[in-house]
Amino acid sequence: MPEPAADELLVRVRACGVCRTDLHVAEGDLPVHRPRVVPGHEVVGEVVGHGPAAEGFEVGDLVGIAWLRRTCGVCAYCRRGVENLCPYSQYTGWDADGGYAEYATVPAAYAYRLPAGYGDAELAPLLCAGIIGYRALRRAEVPPGGRLGIYGFGASAHLTAQVAAAEGLTVHVLTRSAAARELALSLGAASAGDATAAPPEPLDGAILFAPVGDLVPVALQALDRGGTLAVAGIHLTDIPTLVYQRDLFYERTLRSVTANTRADGREFLDLAARHRLRVTTTPYPLDAADRALADLAADRVTGAAVLLPSVPGG
Ligand SMILES: [Zn+2]
Ligand SMILES: [Zn+2]
Repeated sequence: MPEPAADELLVRVRACGVCRTDLHVAEGDLPVHRPRVVPGHEVVGEVVGHGPAAEGFEVGDLVGIAWLRRTCGVCAYCRRGVENLCPYSQYTGWDADGGYAEYATVPAAYAYRLPAGYGDAELAPLLCAGIIGYRALRRAEVPPGGRLGIYGFGASAHLTAQVAAAEGLTVHVLTRSAAARELALSLGAASAGDATAAPPEPLDGAILFAPVGDLVPVALQALDRGGTLAVAGIHLTDIPTLVYQRDLFYERTLRSVTANTRADGREFLDLAARHRLRVTTTPYPLDAADRALADLAADRVTGAAVLLPSVPGG
């Protein structure tokens, strides 16, 4: 049973999403910040206690715990509204124990209120897959009514595609999995093709969700003049040599997406309250977390894998 710090909530976990970042933490693609850390940063749970200085939530409230856990609040980045770039930031399931557990803690100032109308397992992937996808969509800067390309179609992409379609964008999905292409079409994508194929029309913006650097020039070449490619992942395999004329000229832009701000999280969760998103989940019992990670690594999960502590082990 973790002990909440003075400004933290103690949360009984009801569901925890399995994110690709957990895989990067578990497999050592990311440096170790806390040895033997408990992964998990898409945590849906009920407040069962709190430290004396934790404000804004009561025992019994349903809360979300996400990746961004703490920022310093005083550095230049925090002060200008990009706390996602804070050099002193800490992350749930990397710097502090996360939600592959029955109980977890969270600083109250970094906990989220959750939209009504969703089940626990549906809420979990909103907390990283949803929020990061939302920031990536903003970073792709597609003009109103424009054409968005989505490369890779896992948990984050399947939520982002629905947000983009709800905002009036034309969405083209490019992914190697036939099942994912089918899901994309059922969620309102205008087309779904193989990851390395050209989309049916030039793109105003694109998001690379697949952690595959080889797709960067592919996606850049699919952009129209002035288009932007946002790379959504925390980890990407090496990008092959870019050819300036072919891949970047005509003011095409390549940019990364680094975590999110709390404002991104609140905006996205408000949006999820207004537009009911269809959240595809594959449930696993908590003690099958290793199997969930292996399935994610092998691209065997459709939508989002979610751990449920209350489901008996199998
Ligand atoms: Zn800071
Ligand atoms: Zn994540």
